[in-house]
Amino acid sequence: MTFRAKILLSAFTAVLVGVAATSALTVVLAGGRGAPAALAGVSAAVGVAAGAIVIAIVSTPWIRRLRALEDRAAHYARGEVAVTTPDFNQDEVGAAARMLDALTHDVARRIAGLEADRARMAAILSGMIEGVLVVNEHGRLQLANDAARRMLRIDDAVEGRHYPEIVRHPAVATQIAAALADRPTESVELTGLRDSAVTLIARTAPVEISPGRGAVVVLHDITDLRRADRIRRDFVANVSHELRTPLTAIRGYVEALADATPEESSRFLGIVARHTLRMEHLVRDLLRLARLDAGQEPLDRVPCSIDTLFSTVESDLSRTIAARGQTVERDVAPDAATVSGDPSKLQDALRNLLENATNHAPEGSRIVLRARREHTHIVLTVADEGPGIPPDDLTRVFERFYRVDKARTREGKDPGGTGLGLSIVRHLVELHGGRVTAANQPEHGAVFTVELPE
Ligand code: ADP
Repeated sequence: MTFRAKILLSAFTAVLVGVAATSALTVVLAGGRGAPAALAGVSAAVGVAAGAIVIAIVSTPWIRRLRALEDRAAHYARGEVAVTTPDFNQDEVGAAARMLDALTHDVARRIAGLEADRARMAAILSGMIEGVLVVNEHGRLQLANDAARRMLRIDDAVEGRHYPEIVRHPAVATQIAAALADRPTESVELTGLRDSAVTLIARTAPVEISPGRGAVVVLHDITDLRRADRIRRDFVANVSHELRTPLTAIRGYVEALADATPEESSRFLGIVARHTLRMEHLVRDLLRLARLDAGQEPLDRVPCSIDTLFSTVESDLSRTIAARGQTVERDVAPDAATVSGDPSKLQDALRNLLENATNHAPEGSRIVLRARREHTHIVLTVADEGPGIPPDDLTRVFERFYRVDKARTREGKDPGGTGLGLSIVRHLVELHGGRVTAANQPEHGAVFTVELPE
């Protein structure tokens, strides 16, 4: 039976019952003689009132259920969907409640799906190394991901701002205009934006955004790529230059040999031999750097005695040290007696530092090789009494071919090192998980520090 039929039937029954009951009561009160008209009227009124009371009693559960339904709808309106489902009856109220429940749960499921999509998209956008900007058809920014914010140094909200406030570059404006007009766009290289050291590549494409059309600008940071490219080009130029100098000298002296006197010939041959040796060193160092760069020098770690390392490099260079009248002091702390490393590579690094010290420090000066422990590191230092290194060059001396003063030749000796020695040292130390730094002593002289994990 339907809800309305139930209500009507209850009301009708209640009125009938009320009227019948009050009529019977009236007859009883009148002693079975028939009721006067006034009494009949009163009995009818009492009957209707009794019917109303019955209606109220019968309809109360319905009203309670409708209230519950209203309350439930209010929960849904506040987005509180996870409410336990009550036992709805099989009538219209039950059907409406079930319908409301099913609809709300369906909408909630869809919203949850959209939110999951949005979260996924936000995670992808924020995890991207490329910067992404979305611009609507009026040129207003709709979105800028974390990478774009980093690249363009954006700190505040950008949504709704006009894009030239953020990317002030005519090429980007052209790209966006083309993308909005559905014309093909070329990628452009952007320099001198917020950070002049940064180089970006921008690619723009049209996108459908709601509402309407828009353009998405993707920014790639190619600063490192450009830097690597520049380093490579500088390197090739440097190698060419370093090889050309001795080659030109060799060629000149070889040509001069034709007309040279015997004394001149032997002098010229000496010069040729020196330049040949220099080229040989250069090629040797270049090949070593190439091997280290390519990771082709595996590390053979064993416990190494620091005393042995120091004495080996000292005896390797003993002739040069003696020729320059220099003395080498060793100071190894008892708790820094050994280090884990590849002995031949550590010797190469220390030999290079000691050789530099002997070459730059004056004759008769003192060079100190020290080893001490600092927490979990063994710290080795090579200190000399030479001119030291200008503060601005302290980090640059580890670059390939970097020389502090190209005119600072070593009197009457080889025309100079390859400029690759410290670069090789850095590679060898870093291969051990350590680091090498240069500093100046307070009095005078340079000190190179090698920190190695024990
Ligand atoms: P080079 O073959 O020219 O010695 P390195 O890479 O070994 O090349 O050194 C780079 C530059 O660092 C040197 O040309 C020199 O100017 C500077 N340098 C290195 N060691 C010292 C030192 N002990 N004292 C002063 N300058 C140094």
